[in-house]
Amino acid sequence: MVVRMVGLEDVRCEGKPSLKEILGRAAQVLWEGGVTAQRLREGNVLEDVVLCHAARMLGLRRIPVGDRGFVPLEHLGFYDDVSPKAMKVFSSTLELLYRGWPTPLVRLQSLGGSGVRVWAKLESYNPFSNSVKDRIGWYMVEKWISEHGSTPSMVYEATSTNTGIALAAMAAVKGFRVKLFIPKTIQKASDTLLWAMGADVVRTDKSLTVEMIDDVKAEAEKTGAIHINQFENDANFEVHLRYTAKELELQLRSEGILPQAIIGGVGTSGHMSAIAFYFKNRFRGGIRVYGVQPAPGHTIPGIRRVETGMKWIHLVEFDGIVDIGFEEAVEHVLEIARRDGILVGLSSGAVAAGFKKLLERGEVDEGDYVLVFPDHGFKYVEQLERYRRSRGEG
Ligand code: PLP
Repeated sequence: MVVRMVGLEDVRCEGKPSLKEILGRAAQVLWEGGVTAQRLREGNVLEDVVLCHAARMLGLRRIPVGDRGFVPLEHLGFYDDVSPKAMKVFSSTLELLYRGWPTPLVRLQSLGGSGVRVWAKLESYNPFSNSVKDRIGWYMVEKWISEHGSTPSMVYEATSTNTGIALAAMAAVKGFRVKLFIPKTIQKASDTLLWAMGADVVRTDKSLTVEMIDDVKAEAEKTGAIHINQFENDANFEVHLRYTAKELELQLRSEGILPQAIIGGVGTSGHMSAIAFYFKNRFRGGIRVYGVQPAPGHTIPGIRRVETGMKWIHLVEFDGIVDIGFEEAVEHVLEIARRDGILVGLSSGAVAAGFKKLLERGEVDEGDYVLVFPDHGFKYVEQLERYRRSRGEG
């Protein structure tokens, strides 16, 4: 026997390796672009315990088993996660979410020029929160349910709104309640949006720091609620590795694009850490990845400064972190709205400003650049209004 394929669901993964160990093995699989034939022990236990967990995290459907041979990812069901429904008819709102992917990748005319092409990945095309956070709301809850064999009755979470809406949508569909803790600095409209979605909202004096997250953890413990915790829950990183990064690769591949760099904002650091991990390992060097954070003293909803504490960014390699001020973020929202006709959120404006900053620094050569735009601009009317007044235009 040389090699045979065994379904990953028929294989048992023993032990509990650390995230670092699993990522080490996942990096190797992405880097090699496939898996070498494996040995199965009695009871269908995969001998390579860490590979077993890494294969699950990457979303492989099959594992090659045998004495020798190497099987590329394409044959292991690696890309099965991304299978859009062409006619867009869905059996439920949840299916609308995960079979509605990939979110669009669109070329912008407001940025780029002279050999530089800029592509925006529009996460506002997610159906619940119109943001990147639908992905983690879905995956954190589904993983919790599959690991515990039951649905939670009450979920607590600290959020700047988007994760809150995504969790409220999951609560509506699955039948549980959510209580959301939101910093006072976040736009007032969030209270109404979350109320409409059926969630309870508590405003806090603290910003989204480790301290505030600890408070929510303590509150949840007191009342027996589940603290789903997007800041530390590895399902956050995993869903972006398994879906967001993978679908972006397929989109780029379909157009024959090998990007020079990918740029995005960091809040929990979930989506950009997974994208960095994926592209750095899948494409042996070459693709640069940048994070964008608010400049000191500035508030941009959804993104935070790295030093406020984030988990996954420290496990992967970034080529730089760019500081952006609130006004710069708004100015880029306006530029994109007025030249491309789409109203993106403030963190998307910050990402666009981050790209411009790299251009000014001479870090942008000819080629293709991908900007990840986390959400839509409609939620930020209050901030846009304040900016408008400050400019004497309102
Ligand atoms: N932008 C917006 C509008 C967000 O809501 C968030 C997260 O809350 C981010 C960016 C950052 O995403 P991540 O938490 O994956 O780093």
